[in-house]
Amino acid sequence: MSENNLQVLLRRRPAGEPVAEDFEVVETPVPVPGAGEVLIRARFLSLDPYMRGRMSDAKSYAKPVELGGVMEGLSVGEVVASNHPDFAPGDTVMGGSGWQRFCVVEAAKLRKVDCNEAPLSANLGVLGMPGLTAWVGLEDIGEPKPGETVVISAASGAVGQVAGQIAKARGARVIGIAGGAKKCAFVVRELGFDACLDHRGDLNAQLDAACPEGIDVYWENVGGHVQEAVFPRLRDFGRMVMCGMIAQYNQAPGADAAGAPPGPNLGPVVRKRLRIQGFIVSDKGWQRYPQFRAVMLGLMKSGQLVWKEDVVQGLRKAPEAFIGLLKGQNFGKLVIAID
Ligand code: NDP
Repeated sequence: MSENNLQVLLRRRPAGEPVAEDFEVVETPVPVPGAGEVLIRARFLSLDPYMRGRMSDAKSYAKPVELGGVMEGLSVGEVVASNHPDFAPGDTVMGGSGWQRFCVVEAAKLRKVDCNEAPLSANLGVLGMPGLTAWVGLEDIGEPKPGETVVISAASGAVGQVAGQIAKARGARVIGIAGGAKKCAFVVRELGFDACLDHRGDLNAQLDAACPEGIDVYWENVGGHVQEAVFPRLRDFGRMVMCGMIAQYNQAPGADAAGAPPGPNLGPVVRKRLRIQGFIVSDKGWQRYPQFRAVMLGLMKSGQLVWKEDVVQGLRKAPEAFIGLLKGQNFGKLVIAID
């Protein structure tokens, strides 16, 4: 193959917010698949908040990216060459790996996708890891019931937009929280949430007006000042789905309280009999992928599920786009169109 591979490497571990110099874009030879492996040309790469964790060598549930290694990530694309009978050149697949144009992946880690069901890039968002996260978190922890009030932070984002629409389809009253008037208008008009509050304004006053009886389910994507405002408003037997706390990802582990975002007083957890549970979608979520996909495709068909992507052109732009994601600059599921 005359074309080269293009890869984004981790050059340096960031201190605080990542900067462009923490990454390096390099051209390398296209890899050759071994026995049972498949060579994929990636078309779209997913950029996700968890990647900030992989840039750090602090103890976590997953190993960090090695210095000089390819940044971790999921992609979708086409099979170029295959050493496995289940895959043939031209197949469209999800399960590509790394911030790179070409990758070699074990066939067992790949899944064929049908582009007649949804556009290829949707397999990174609404039909991919973020959508699966939303579904698993609501199935297992949030369990919204008809008439309950559900609050979703980072509501216009990859996970939030799906979580809110699933809760709505289950008959809950859904209130989003997002940054800025444009995102809030989208969440109400396009996604069909009942209201959306701007966390850059007076969130306490907006919550008082939108949730006068309190909150039954809080989907936590953000932490910091958003969590501080929402938490005291949880009703008895409320559930808090601890999905992520992006406002804190640039903090050094063990950083002292100075400069840290504020947190709520968790004392009322006992008195209110709250359920607060964290989860990681990769634990057991992918085993339930076929069930999830069937539910999502059903909601799409009935018009109850729409989605928004923020597509950035060119793999070389991935570092800049990722840095922006951690500052709320994306609007919808952030994906890189690789070519
Ligand atoms: P999004 O598409 O929602 O993008 C991130 C959004 O978070 C931004 O657009 C912004 O929205 C908000 N944000 C970013 N920085 C800050 C900040 N400093 N303070 C407040 N808000 C901020 O990302 P995802 O939907 O992919 O991820 C949402 C959350 O879900 C993350 O915490 C992520 O780590 C977590 N997650 C957890 C998984 C799990 O298995 N537990 C799996 C997947 C994701 P706005 O402008 O509206 O504030």
